[in-house]
Formats: sequence, C-alpha cells, structure tokens
Amino acid sequence: MGTIKCIGILTSGGDAPGMNAAIRAVTRTAFYNGWRVKGIMRGYKGLITGEINEFRSESVSNIIQRGGTILKTARCAEFKTPEGRRAAYENMRAAEIDALVVIGGDGTITGARAFAEEFDVPIVGLPGTIDNDLSGTDSTIGYDTALNTITDAVDKLRDTATSHERLFFVEVMGHTAGYLALNGAIATGAEAAIIPEAETGDDQLKTLIDNGFRKSKNSAIVLVAENPVTGGAMGLAKRVEEEFPQYDARVTILGHLQRGGSPTAADRILASRLGAAAIEALKEGQRNVMVGVRNGETVYVPFTQALSHTKCVRSSNIELVKILSI
Ligand code: ATP
Repeated sequence: MGTIKCIGILTSGGDAPGMNAAIRAVTRTAFYNGWRVKGIMRGYKGLITGEINEFRSESVSNIIQRGGTILKTARCAEFKTPEGRRAAYENMRAAEIDALVVIGGDGTITGARAFAEEFDVPIVGLPGTIDNDLSGTDSTIGYDTALNTITDAVDKLRDTATSHERLFFVEVMGHTAGYLALNGAIATGAEAAIIPEAETGDDQLKTLIDNGFRKSKNSAIVLVAENPVTGGAMGLAKRVEEEFPQYDARVTILGHLQRGGSPTAADRILASRLGAAAIEALKEGQRNVMVGVRNGETVYVPFTQALSHTKCVRSSNIELVKILSI
C-alpha cells in the first residue's frame, strides 16, 4: 500500500453518542491534510455492498451535537467470513480507498484485525461504545453520555423507590463489563451494584440483603449489569420474590435509551481528540492500532491489546459503593 490519498470511514456495532463528533473530527482533519474522505454506510455491510459516498466538508456540518451516527450502523455477519472480507476489500480498492478508520466496540475492532491480517490495508480504530470495555483506553466514546443518562433516570426512580419503600433493580448495559453499573451506582448514591466482575462465586444478591440492604433501610436502588449469570434485573427480582419475600422488588430496564441523546461535552471532546489523532496515526505510518486516551495522553493501542479484556473496574470503587451506602 503506497501513500494515503483517500480514507474510508465507517461506524459499526452498537451506536454510541459521540460517533458523529468522531466522524466530523476524522473528516475535517483528513481534509486539513489534503486527503479525500469517503463515508461507508452501515458499517462493514456498506463495504461489502459498495454503499460508499464521497464526503465534502459540509457532509459533517452540524452533527457534533447529534447522537447516533450519520453513517448508520449495522451488525454484519457476512464480514465474519473470508468471502465477505474479500468482497469488502475489492470494493474498497474500486473506491480508491487507501486506508480505513473504523469506529465501534470490540466486535468492530475484532473485524478490523481480521481484515488487516488478510489484506495490506492500514486501519485505525476508534473506541466507540457505551460499555467502556476496550482495553488500553481510559474511556470510550459514548460512555460518559450513557453514564449521565443512567444518572438522570435513577434520580427519577429514587423518588418512587423512597415513597413506596421499594427495592428497585435497575438494569443497565454492559454484559461483560460493569463500568456503567458500578460508576452509575456511585453517581446516584445507589445502595449496590451487581456486576459481572464481582461474579466470582459470591452470591451478590445474598450479600446485599445480608449486609447492605438491611433493617435501617426499607427502600433501595441496585444497579445491575445485564448478565446471563445473574439473569439480570428480572432474574434477581424473581429470586427476591422466592427467597426474600419480605421485600417488594421492582425492575426497570433502561435498555436502548442509554445509547441515545446528545453527547456530553466530555464525549464530544474525547471524540474530537481521538478522531484527529486517528489521522495523525495514519500519517505517522501506524496501522492496526486503536487510538485511545490514557492519563490524559493520546495513545496507540495494538488491536490485540485493545481486545485483551485486561481493563477492569477499580476494585476500590466496588468498596466505595459499599462504604457510602451504609
Ligand atoms: P458494541 O460494543 O456496541 O456491541 P461492537 O463493535 O462490539 O459494538 P458487534 O456487533 O460485536 O458490535 O461487532 C460489529 C461488527 O464487527 C459485526 O457485525 C461484524 O460485522 C464485525 N465483527 C465482529 N466480530 C468479528 C469477527 N470475529 N470477524 C470479523 N468481523 C467481525
């Protein structure tokens, strides 16, 4: 692959607030450097179907404040096959795209890694997911906004929980990562967080009832990460009904509303910084790295490291929820 003159950009997997700000930053920084930009619609699917449009500077006007993604997103099973990726490569070459910037979660980065292993294409990934589950970056684009959305929702539920003296299980996203549940619990003063990371043989519900949620309190809010092991909020409420019938448990599943909305200032700034850094990375000859931020500095994280699942919620924050809920 020779010098880069034209890049392709796509968003893939679950949408996250701030993806548009990232698209804007990548596009404008590419133009600043004299490169062309092509927008690929619907993630890897658009690469396979050839849904690729030339971007102009105005293509990304007035989008920094908008949630979702103007490029749309999709989950594309065909890209998981060598034939699908070959078709994507051929379309990419036909569109004169020299390098790719992909924005998405761990699946998107996994797809980029597979593509880069088969074809000589420089790819830079941006962490765009509300789950904050990519290693090598302190935060992912969309996480802060989702956390704020959860905080607003739980503040409202607290009024009802207190008035009716109920136990509320509030289910949030993050089936393998408890960032939203744990930090949401800290931000809302919830009594507990039930998260996958603490699922180490302990019965988190029993511990909660035995220790945290006790005589002095007859209402409580517990943030629960969606999780097949615990059965999520519904599974826990069922157990309360059967095992601890003295409590009146209710369930709220926040679902997709956590993904929407205008990105917070923090997410817009993160997306703008990382978007610009993606172009810098390509200029420096970097390839097959995710751009992240660590201790305030922009860093390049090899795909394999980004996917290593070595990042973990702070155990001191698990302790903090316990201390602050006595
Ligand atoms: P979120 O964290 O919001 O769910 P994600 O990027 O993890 O976002 P996925 O649906 O897991 O979302 O992945 C997005 C797309 O990446 C998939 O639809 C598929 O096209 C591609 N992809 C995922 N895993 C692979 C893989 N093993 N090989 C090739 N492509 C993959």
